[in-house]
Amino acid sequence: MSKEKIMDKYSILKNVFGYDSLRPGQEEAIDGIMSGRDTLAVMPTGAGKSLCYQIPAMLLPGMTIVISPLISLMKDQVNALREAGCPAAYLNSSLNAQEYFQTIGEINSGSIKLLYIAPERLQRGDIFADTESSPSQKSPPPLVVVDEAHCISQWGHDFRTSYLEIAGFIKSIKPRPITAAFTATATPKVRDDIERLLHLKKPVSINTGFDRPNLYFEVQKPRDKKAALLECLASRKKSSGIVYCATRKAVDELYAGLPRYGFSVTRYHAGLEDDERRKNQDDFLYDRKTVMIATNAFGMGIDKPNVRFVIHYNMPKNIESYYQEAGRAGRDGGPADCVLLYSGKDVHINEYLITHNDEDAEPNPELQAHNRELLRQITFYATGNECLRRRLLAYFGEESPAYCGRCSVCLTDREDTDVSLEARKIISCVYRLKERRRSFGKTMIIDILRGGRNKKIAGFGLEDLSVFGIMAGTDARRIRAILDFLIDRGFLESEGGEYPVVVLGSGYEEVLNEKRRVVMKLPKTVSREQLAVSSEKKIPVESGPVETGADKDLFEKLKELRRGIAAKEGVPAYIVFSDASLRDMCRKKPASLVQFSAVNGVGAVKLEKYGEAFIEVINNS
Ligand SMILES: [Zn+2]
Repeated sequence: MSKEKIMDKYSILKNVFGYDSLRPGQEEAIDGIMSGRDTLAVMPTGAGKSLCYQIPAMLLPGMTIVISPLISLMKDQVNALREAGCPAAYLNSSLNAQEYFQTIGEINSGSIKLLYIAPERLQRGDIFADTESSPSQKSPPPLVVVDEAHCISQWGHDFRTSYLEIAGFIKSIKPRPITAAFTATATPKVRDDIERLLHLKKPVSINTGFDRPNLYFEVQKPRDKKAALLECLASRKKSSGIVYCATRKAVDELYAGLPRYGFSVTRYHAGLEDDERRKNQDDFLYDRKTVMIATNAFGMGIDKPNVRFVIHYNMPKNIESYYQEAGRAGRDGGPADCVLLYSGKDVHINEYLITHNDEDAEPNPELQAHNRELLRQITFYATGNECLRRRLLAYFGEESPAYCGRCSVCLTDREDTDVSLEARKIISCVYRLKERRRSFGKTMIIDILRGGRNKKIAGFGLEDLSVFGIMAGTDARRIRAILDFLIDRGFLESEGGEYPVVVLGSGYEEVLNEKRRVVMKLPKTVSREQLAVSSEKKIPVESGPVETGADKDLFEKLKELRRGIAAKEGVPAYIVFSDASLRDMCRKKPASLVQFSAVNGVGAVKLEKYGEAFIEVINNS
């Protein structure tokens, strides 16, 4: 490389893009391309990958071609480049005939330096049908850039068949252009696919690492997701954020429900008209609305820098999707939160989708098995008690310390707990069921152990099992945590597709025969939710009385209100709210529905039913 070009690299950086220095990885990518070598760069969102090919495109003679699936982003990028004085254009389905021919004219005149095209154009084999002579004959493109290159792999999360045409397209250009591939998320398997399917020749390989230190990761396993979401939103009220849901229905429900609590929300999913989608997206992008509720259809090509949180109302199908969606938080480098609200149902929904989502294709058992394994991994992310960041990075093949200090697992005070006895009880249950040639899912096993009475248990005659009710006094969530741990460690296994059942794994005998202890980390302190349960259900009389006179007055007023409601509805007063809840109201003095939802014993239904009446009394006292 000549000295002049090194100078050029920096002058373009400064003059066109206005930066003084390059970020990690950018320089290697630019130098790789400029030295004439193929380049494969894996960079997380927000690392500045477009500069890596825009600068070489401006340095190289001729017109660089950028293949990108993100039609919505093309226009923005081209506008930004033109704004900066770089002649760029795009060809995709959004152009009308006039715009199309104007662009073709510019290509013919040789003035375009960067041309963005959608991959579908390659499939038709006529991308330059309207140009005077194809650029591959006249002045061949010096560089072909493949953006979002993971789309070429069926192991990636956005597989596109049109990407398979790219290698042939590149081959048709003589002399062969430099090929540069970029992706934000790629596992080693996907990385191999990109290199192989694009026929990259000994590419310069760049991997800036996946860690995003400014992101805080959290998993919650709430009983009531809506209440948990309200709490999450309330503590981040003025910041911009995204709430991802698994289904359009869930999006619509939250969209209808949240404004009542004073949140400024909008929505996005594939079922909306184009106009509404565009308007809602803009409302969010321009901060006219603070919270976007959306399915995973939202976000591709969205580059909003000040997203302060991404809450997943449902668990996505794999870690790659999760990391990409959650990664839309904090692109400006400032602190941002990624919260996953997990429930066992999410696993079932995803199982169902894996089995039934093959409508237009032949069912592919190998792919289904692969997808199930990916689902298993994100389930462990959600249910395990290892550092969340470590789990995420391990998925991308990256080593990291066991403690990151920036995730809910690291920040929960846990201690090593010997759960050998409980583990034996759980394994015994699976063992006894096996003797009867039966196997069930987790919820059923927990019900049996806790001595639950339901139709299914009675129907199968499981009450006479020796293990029935042997964990009656144990919190269901604790049993579930230990059960998940036993599955994670392989003593038990979860098998079967759509309705997985728990079966014996390997080494379980050693646990049963007390030859092996089972030690796991469990939270040291009981959660607020657990406290609420114990104070309402186990301790008959609340011990901490209301001390001050003012609070005592309020307490009486609240009791009065409760009495009235109870009488009207013909239910006992404690059905409306327990004394403990009323005392908590006296302590917290909630002034809004959101604050009210933080009162012990207030679930979504009670919040909706009684919230306003109680708040009014509190505000007026
Ligand atoms: Zn951590």
